[in-house]
Amino acid sequence: MTPAKLRLLAVSAILLSTVPLLSQELNSNFARDPGQPIDQQYTDHIHQYTTDPSFISPLVDYLPASKSVPTPAKVLGDVSGAPDMLPYAEDVYKYFRLLEASSSRVKVFTIGHSEEGREMIAAAIADPKLLGGAKENDARLAQLADPRTINLDDVKARQIVDQSWPVYYITGTIHSPETGAPTALMELAYRLAVDDAPYIKYIRSHMIVLITPVVEVDGRDRMVDIYKWHKAHPGQDWPRLLYWGHYVAHDNNRDAMAMTLDLTRNVLETYLGWHAQVLHDLHESVPFLYDNTVGDGPYDAWVDPTLADEWAELGWNNVAQMQRFGMPGVFTHGDFDTWSPGYLMFLAGMHNGISRLYETFGNGGADTEKRILRPEDYSRTWYRQNPPLPVVNWSQRDNNNYEESALLSTLSYFSQNTHHFLENYYVKSKRAVEKPSLEGPAAYVIPADPADTNRQIELLKVLKRQHVEVEQLSDAVAATVPAEKRGDKAKQETFPAGSIVVRMDQPYSRVADALLDRQFWAAGDPQKHPYDDTGWSFSHLFNLKVVRLLDASILKSKMTRLDDPAKLAGRVSGSGPVLAVANTGQVSLLSLVYKLKGATIQVAEKAFDAEGKHFAAGSLLITATPDDRIAGILHDLSLDASRLGAAPSVPVHAVTAPRLAFMHTWLGTQTEGWWRYVFDTAGVPFDYISTQTVANQQDFRAKYDVIIFAPVGRSSTLEILNGIPMWSNPMPWQKSDLTPNLGAIDSTPDIRPGLGYDGLAHLKKFVEQGGLLITCEDTAQFAIETGLAPGVSVAPRGDARVVGTVLNTVFVAHDHPVAFGYGAGIPVISANGMAFNVSNILGRTGGRVLMDPLTDPLDPYAKRATGRGTVDDSDEPQGRKIVEPEPLMKQQPWEPPHLDEEQTRNNPLVIPVQSRPDVILRFSEGKTLLLDGLLDKGSSIAEHAVVVNAHLGQGNVLLFGNNPVYRGETVGTYALVFNVILNYQHLNDQHLAHEAAPAGKQP
Ligand SMILES: [Zn+2]
Repeated sequence: MTPAKLRLLAVSAILLSTVPLLSQELNSNFARDPGQPIDQQYTDHIHQYTTDPSFISPLVDYLPASKSVPTPAKVLGDVSGAPDMLPYAEDVYKYFRLLEASSSRVKVFTIGHSEEGREMIAAAIADPKLLGGAKENDARLAQLADPRTINLDDVKARQIVDQSWPVYYITGTIHSPETGAPTALMELAYRLAVDDAPYIKYIRSHMIVLITPVVEVDGRDRMVDIYKWHKAHPGQDWPRLLYWGHYVAHDNNRDAMAMTLDLTRNVLETYLGWHAQVLHDLHESVPFLYDNTVGDGPYDAWVDPTLADEWAELGWNNVAQMQRFGMPGVFTHGDFDTWSPGYLMFLAGMHNGISRLYETFGNGGADTEKRILRPEDYSRTWYRQNPPLPVVNWSQRDNNNYEESALLSTLSYFSQNTHHFLENYYVKSKRAVEKPSLEGPAAYVIPADPADTNRQIELLKVLKRQHVEVEQLSDAVAATVPAEKRGDKAKQETFPAGSIVVRMDQPYSRVADALLDRQFWAAGDPQKHPYDDTGWSFSHLFNLKVVRLLDASILKSKMTRLDDPAKLAGRVSGSGPVLAVANTGQVSLLSLVYKLKGATIQVAEKAFDAEGKHFAAGSLLITATPDDRIAGILHDLSLDASRLGAAPSVPVHAVTAPRLAFMHTWLGTQTEGWWRYVFDTAGVPFDYISTQTVANQQDFRAKYDVIIFAPVGRSSTLEILNGIPMWSNPMPWQKSDLTPNLGAIDSTPDIRPGLGYDGLAHLKKFVEQGGLLITCEDTAQFAIETGLAPGVSVAPRGDARVVGTVLNTVFVAHDHPVAFGYGAGIPVISANGMAFNVSNILGRTGGRVLMDPLTDPLDPYAKRATGRGTVDDSDEPQGRKIVEPEPLMKQQPWEPPHLDEEQTRNNPLVIPVQSRPDVILRFSEGKTLLLDGLLDKGSSIAEHAVVVNAHLGQGNVLLFGNNPVYRGETVGTYALVFNVILNYQHLNDQHLAHEAAPAGKQP
């Protein structure tokens, strides 16, 4: 901005500057230091960019001046929140480092890097005395965090509390289109470092404020690119942000359980590394400030009750402060439940701290816009007595005013109550250690079992990232296992030596308890809109036996700490030329095939026993592998192997590393991003192509064996085909001088075109020529609706309610390669109860909803007329010879309706036997369907197919109703996908054998 323009703004600001003085008189808690000069130019701009006098508080309606410390304008060229200006992470960091260089009250640290190598930082702000003593302070806080170090001695704890300062950690812009936090936090940092208002002096002398201004740093830089493109193309539509992080978008705030993403790991390491008491995450969506610290029920069932009280205390206090400033639209109760611990802030909630989250209002960039609110947003309710205005002109500066005012007032409250919050921190930590004797359980035991080791290691890696201590039993131990059902008897179980024990007498027992326990969401819960998944038990999702023990005697057993879970696997036993690796549903068998390129690898089609071990169908038999390589590879992939003198005498087929492509749309790249994450982590290579690639090129069968069309995320078939309407301007997603951060993952000159009918034809040809297409949820629906999956339809869900629920399933086709290595069934997470019906007639739906057999019109037995006999037997007319009807075939819900001669005669819609869909996995019956979360009225989906192999030409389309590769949490179902990829050429063998068996019985 030019100096002339600045002078103009200064004149106009004088008129506004009188407005908030009165409220400052009333809010003497937040009085300024009358002796400190203000930065008039900066202050004038704050007023200039604030669109309504009520959108500012006396805390931020001025900026104190400093001779030595630069304001954010030094880097930004204008004030924080100025219109049309959005800084890259690099510029934000540059400012924080200028602060560090110019103020002894600021220290900046690198806290790690993103998947794409961009730096993440944290800045600590406090008086030099506190920063200088931060190490000693942290050593004290570490004792409060782990009360075992002071023998749970309250007197000692009290002394430590008296000597210590708490740490309050604020994180910004995890959600990249929510753009306001970085500039708000730059200015907040300046105020905390420079302002001599008594309340700010009190904050910085009583606590350390820790700030990570940009959490999703990859996404921030891409968002700034998009914004710059938008400013350079006035009047044009601009692309919405597709890739936020390298893998996922909004779901980066659903990663606090499995902790797969670098940003989650970096934030937790910082949070725990400083032993902070609060993690306060800044978001934008709801007008004008929803401090969902209080939120709504149900609250997570594993948090200490003290945390719920702290939420109430901080949330209502914060709202009350903002009311006193006269800022409209601030509330703390709302419809966001705090049930799932998947949100970033919950890293604190699950580690004895306080989780908080603001939703402020934002425009997805720095444009000042007229915003039209919906009645539910501007209506007055009991908890929102001063609601947002129904129509506003909203600026990024307004957003920054709200964020900073609310943060400063809550920091002030916190600084006045540091003893109280540190005591709570200690009490929560102590109660976490006392869990076995308070509420229990005493421990979780994961019994040693070679078949589970690979997935156990995956779980132990998660627990390690969560800072949960894990031990291993030195000897076999017998313990009393509580009954599954209320009223049933407890039983004794012996756990072998080497079994994993997750003791609950440790500081972070709560997170282990929340992950390993089971969840139940009552169908009648007053909360009718679960905000996220209702079930997540990692015991189920990792397909592991995990035993919850109440009996504390287990804690006295001899056990040793297990710091490196990887050492549990990598063993090779026996001798001989054939290396056998049992298939037990591991996450890394497919990886092994890619790592051993060049070796001869066969898949056993039947189970066998050798070297005293059981090898399920799907086990690998490897020859021609040099010894020196294999040990390291097996260790890295957490796999055990046995050497055999000779190949077992079972049928086998050879496999090689299939050529994979991921096909993505330009509509959404997040849900498929979780799949990419898993394939990248497993070291399974793939080409990354878009629906546009498939539309514009040909002959994909020559290039690929398997195309993975992972979920788009609630997209319709028409959207996938048509893309974004072509009636506006082209929207590029590619690297340019203006957009240096776009286009690295994939690029296009125009994101609008979809797969189109050419693309569909190419995809169809790929399958018909023997390729495998893997589809899931909305892309399975797409395959059905575009004729790629003959005989499959989506089962009507009726009034069933499933919201991210863990459901029980049963394998129907045990010998299908998808089922290799699995037992009778596998827990799956179901987003909304999607299931399939199959039919042997094209265009017909199959399946059958379970109802009373006497009245169900789809049940053949219900068709018999009133007469003699029973429902299961025939009526017999009087006065003539009895003619036996064709026998009625009982149809199960996962089966196609049976066809008789009448129905198949001269019927071109009858699907040839070799092209009929195979049901691999189905939901369990209603009684046993629910494992974790919410299930209401499940009968319409019970027993219906959930994984189906459809056949088209020479190839196959695999359809998943559940998402087997989801948020890094569904480790137990990864092998469903890996199995089918590895055996993609053998998906018709089993089908033909299956059909041939009951020859002549059924057409
Ligand atoms: Zn958000």
